[in-house]
Formats: sequence, C-alpha cells, structure tokens
Amino acid sequence: MKKSTKRVLAMCLTCLVLLGGMFFPVTKSAQATDVITVGTYAEFPPFEYIGDDGEPDGFDIAVIEAIGEVEGFEVEIINMEFKSLIASLSTGSLDAVIAGMTVTDERKQSVDFSDSYYTATQYIVVAKDSDITSLADLNGKKIAVQEGTTGDLLCTPGEDNDVITDENTEVMRFKKGTDAVVSLNNGGVDAVVIDKNPAENFVANNSDKLKLIKDDTSTEEYAIAVAKGDTELLDKINSGLAKIKEDGTFDKLVAEYIEGAEDVETETSGNVIQQFINNLKYVFIDTNGYQLMAKGLGVTIGISFCAGILGIALGFVLALMKLTETRKKRKTVWSRIAGAYIDIIRGTPAMVQLLIMFMVIFRSQYAYIAAILSFGINSGAYVAENIRAGILAVDVGQMEGGRSLGFTYGETMRYIILPQAIKNVIPALGNEMITLVKETSIVGYVAIVDLTKAGDFIVSRTYQAFLPLIAVAIVYYIIVKIMTRILAAIERRLRQSDNR
Ligand code: GLN
Repeated sequence: MKKSTKRVLAMCLTCLVLLGGMFFPVTKSAQATDVITVGTYAEFPPFEYIGDDGEPDGFDIAVIEAIGEVEGFEVEIINMEFKSLIASLSTGSLDAVIAGMTVTDERKQSVDFSDSYYTATQYIVVAKDSDITSLADLNGKKIAVQEGTTGDLLCTPGEDNDVITDENTEVMRFKKGTDAVVSLNNGGVDAVVIDKNPAENFVANNSDKLKLIKDDTSTEEYAIAVAKGDTELLDKINSGLAKIKEDGTFDKLVAEYIEGAEDVETETSGNVIQQFINNLKYVFIDTNGYQLMAKGLGVTIGISFCAGILGIALGFVLALMKLTETRKKRKTVWSRIAGAYIDIIRGTPAMVQLLIMFMVIFRSQYAYIAAILSFGINSGAYVAENIRAGILAVDVGQMEGGRSLGFTYGETMRYIILPQAIKNVIPALGNEMITLVKETSIVGYVAIVDLTKAGDFIVSRTYQAFLPLIAVAIVYYIIVKIMTRILAAIERRLRQSDNR
C-alpha cells in the first residue's frame, strides 16, 4: 500500500475510533469509585470563583475537598452554569453540587440536600447616589439578578410575591452576578439583588461606585446537593461536614475565605494617562489577566488546529463521496450519505451541535474531545463543498485527457485533477479555517476556558468590560491576520507555475 494511502486510512481509523467513543461514553461505574464529580458555578465569590491559575477556587471548593479528605474520596470539580447544576445531578453526570445553593422546597423535589453549612440572605446593591432603601422600593424599577437563583425569585412579580407586586418591574436575568454588577456600574439597571456574601464582595471591589442595602429578607440555608436517593453519598457528606466542623477545619476555612476577603483598591489618582496605565496594569498584571489570556489562547489554537485537521480530512472524504454522483451521472449511496451529512450539519447551528455533542453524547465529560469533534464535524461539511467545487472547477478535458493517456479514474484524480484543484480550493479552505478559529469562541458554554472565556473571566474579576474584551478582540484579529498572511504566501507559491 502506498504511504499516503496508509496515512489517509490511519486518519480515517482515528476518526472512527473517536466517533465510536461518542456512542460508548465511559460510564461512571468504570471510574475509580473514590473520585466524586462535584459541580459548581465559579462565579459566586467568595464561595466559588476562578483562581489565579484559571481553576475554580473558593470556600465551597475548600469545604468539599476537606470533606473528601476526612471521608476518603477525591473530588473532581466541574464548573458549569448554575442553571444546569440540578439537571446534571439528575442525569447522573454529576455526583454532588456545592454552589452556595439555597435549600428550597422546589429544588427538594429534584435533589436531596445535606445538612446546612451556611446561613445567608439577599442584599440589594445600588449606585452610591441611589435613593433606593428597601426591597419594596424596587417596585417598577429595573433590577438585575442572577438567572435561576433565589434572588431572581425574590424580585420576579408573581402570585406568591407579596413585596414586588408592580407588574412593570423589569427583571434582567444575567448568567453571572458580576455581569449584573457591570450592568449596574454602567447605569443599565437600578439595582442588583444577590446573596449577602457576593453582594459584599461586589461592593468591596467597587467601593467608589456602589453601596449595599440590607433589607429584612428571610434567611436562606446553603447545603450540598446529591441526586435524589443517593443516601450513601449524602451520609458520607454529612458525616464529613460534622467532622470538619468538629476539628476546627471548617472555622479555619470561614476565616480564610469568607471573613478574610480583602478589599481591592483601584488607583484613582493621577492624570488620565496615568490612570489608564494603572488600570491596564490592574486588569492584566495584578489580577494575572495576561496568564489567563495566554492559557486561553493556547486552548483556542489547540482546539482550532485539531478541529481544522479533522474537518479537512472529513471534508476530503465527503467531497469524494459526493463526487461519485458526477462520475456515475446519478445519485449513489455514497453521494446520498455525504449529501445528508452536509445538509444536516449546515442546517443546524454550531452552538446546538456543540451542546448536543457535549451534553447528550459525551454526557458532560471530555469537553475538549467533544469540542474538537463537534467543530471538526461541522467544518467538514463546509470543507467538503469547497473541495468538491474546487475539483469540479478543473476543466473536464483534464479528466478526458488523463483517461485517454491510459490512467485510471483514481490515477487521473490523483496526478492531474487534485493538484490543480488544490489551487482552487486553498482560498475557500483558508476562509473556512479563519471562520473556524472564531467559531471556537463558543466553547465557553461547555466549560472550556478558551481566549473568549478568559476575557470573560477577567471581566468577572475586575468588573471592567472594556479593556479585557478589546484585548480579546485584538488577539483574535492578530491570529486571523497571521493566518491570512500564511495563506497568501501559500497561494503565491502554488501559482508560481501559472501563466496568468
Ligand atoms: N443562593 C442562591 C441560590 O441558591 C444563589 C446561588 C448561586 O448563585 N451560586 O439560588
């Protein structure tokens, strides 16, 4: 067998193995029994947030790890949207949830809660010069909350809400508490309603702009959730919680993470340029933003590169499958399969494909593989059409010429048509690769920290949107610029032998 044929076969085999893996995802029982997967939503300081190393950190993380230590299990933290946590417990992709989650009757219908480990309440955050002084004052105002939380329930007018009764009250639901605060800082809303500790944390970090209003809202108990009926794990967690309370570990963690949370002072002196430089330093250096971005950039490049290779390999195979139709002058099984693939993939959004791949097929595990496969499969459909068009653009006389010289169809394809087709295909292929790099910016939805998500984290940590987002845009622009240059160079080389 020729070397190149072997290579193509090996590539196809790898794809098949990967695809096979999709349908037989490793189930929980295959994992070591002493590792439990714990879901959190690392946007709730000081209980959980993204630490300097880009990994979830905070009081809750320390508590569950301490419990694991005394009970003899290891903890794997999975960071996902707050709204998805309970559903993930029910589907079995998580064993437990620790996320500053309040015990509510409604949630008790779907999950079991451990003993409470913290008592909180809801606070109101407003601009310094605001005249809002109570929850009732929020009637008819624009309120920002974190979607699906108890703060959301408290502010949403409805039958069982006897404080916010004005139907004109506008509730803006953000995924992250910090986004709600950024919106308040920008004057987009009148108040943010959120749990006590994050509220204190947000105000401490924006003490020049915001103040805290403490109304008498009822107290809430935070607890760890497990799947309904998982008494074995629940007992372990309760016993571990009791042990760390008993031996003083718990109080130490409270002191370290909750009481010891320090204010961050932002420099406000000096002239405009000085302030800008200080700010730049604060956003990218002091809070380690540049490290997060560098890591994110690596992830973006890695995922794009692997997905690109997969896309080109798949696209090539699909194009050849579809071309059997041109050769036979009628639809073939191969062309029908390729046609259906291209049709389905092009007809559905990449975002939905990614979510299906990660949540349904991979059951919230192996996010990187899910992302690479999803983008590769998506890209393959577009690449296939580019390659097919490139091949069809080669004059029919070339095929006839090849065949009359005694070459077989395959040989003519390989030695005469494809070398010419490559020239036609490169510009469109380059375009597709550029689109792919930018399209990977949605991987944040499956808890991967790529360049975009890194920028997003910096916004959360600094409460500033402008600098981090512009920086992210510039980095993407530079990547695309470099790719465009490389492409132009390749095209120039390929066209060297052309007479036009
Ligand atoms: N305690 C609130 C709730 O359970 C908010 C939790 C959170 O946002 N992490 O709804």
